[in-house]
Amino acid sequence: MNKKIVQAVQERSKGLCEICGSPYMTQIHHIVKGKGKRREHENKYSVILLCWDCHMGNKGVHGRDGRELDLYLKKKLQEKYFNLGYTENEVREKMGGKLY
Ligand SMILES: [Zn+2]
Ligand SMILES: [Zn+2]
Repeated sequence: MNKKIVQAVQERSKGLCEICGSPYMTQIHHIVKGKGKRREHENKYSVILLCWDCHMGNKGVHGRDGRELDLYLKKKLQEKYFNLGYTENEVREKMGGKLY
């Protein structure tokens, strides 16, 4: 993973989960993976720091009941891209080929 992005995420989050603020076993999460094009989809907005519970727990993004949090993060990211001035097509591309 790009070191500059990791650094930016660590600085922004101060090492705390960006959902709940917990410092417990924090890990980097890619909000959009962009099948096979991970590099192009990787930026400081599409990558966040999550604690183990918000990442891998039942209600974590990858958890059994994590659909809601996953969608929430994707919608927030999409909104961020629109706020940054990207066109609808650009945002769709950045979101991995669809809008949420
Ligand atoms: Zn958390
Ligand atoms: Zn993840």
